[in-house]
Amino acid sequence: MYLKSLELQGFKSFPDKISLTFDEGLTAVVGPNGSGKSNIGDAVRWVLGEQSTKELRGKSMEDVIFSGTKTRKQMGFAAVTLTIDNSDHRLNEPEDEVAVTRRLYRSGDSEYMLNHTNCRLKDIIEILHD
Ligand code: ATP
Repeated sequence: MYLKSLELQGFKSFPDKISLTFDEGLTAVVGPNGSGKSNIGDAVRWVLGEQSTKELRGKSMEDVIFSGTKTRKQMGFAAVTLTIDNSDHRLNEPEDEVAVTRRLYRSGDSEYMLNHTNCRLKDIIEILHD
């Protein structure tokens, strides 16, 4: 079981949909100050259900949504999907891949998904708590 990929859209400094693929072993994220390295770590924490805005380095949960720049409008939502390779079935799920998604709208509406099907945060916690 390992983290296979991370897809971000509208999350903090990443307005466009980006996908990061992790191979087995060690992955290093490098870049200049302020380029978004820690935001990637925040995205992992957030998609796994983090509720503390302090842990996410913000004042309110809305702060995870891309807030715009001089040349680019703010986004209406943030979405992150973390895909876990489960080919060894260490997670008690029949699928070889488990994709966890969290989405938050500026309206305050939010949703969680497991393998692209709506679920509760509780369901995600139950699968991953070990
Ligand atoms: P350092 O190497 O200095 O620790 P870093 O690469 O880890 O930097 P981050 O802390 O991940 O950088 O990213 C900081 C950047 O993310 C800042 O430019 C900040 O303005 C931007 N940012 C954070 N939240 C948002 C948001 N909601 N919308 C737009 N940009 C955001």
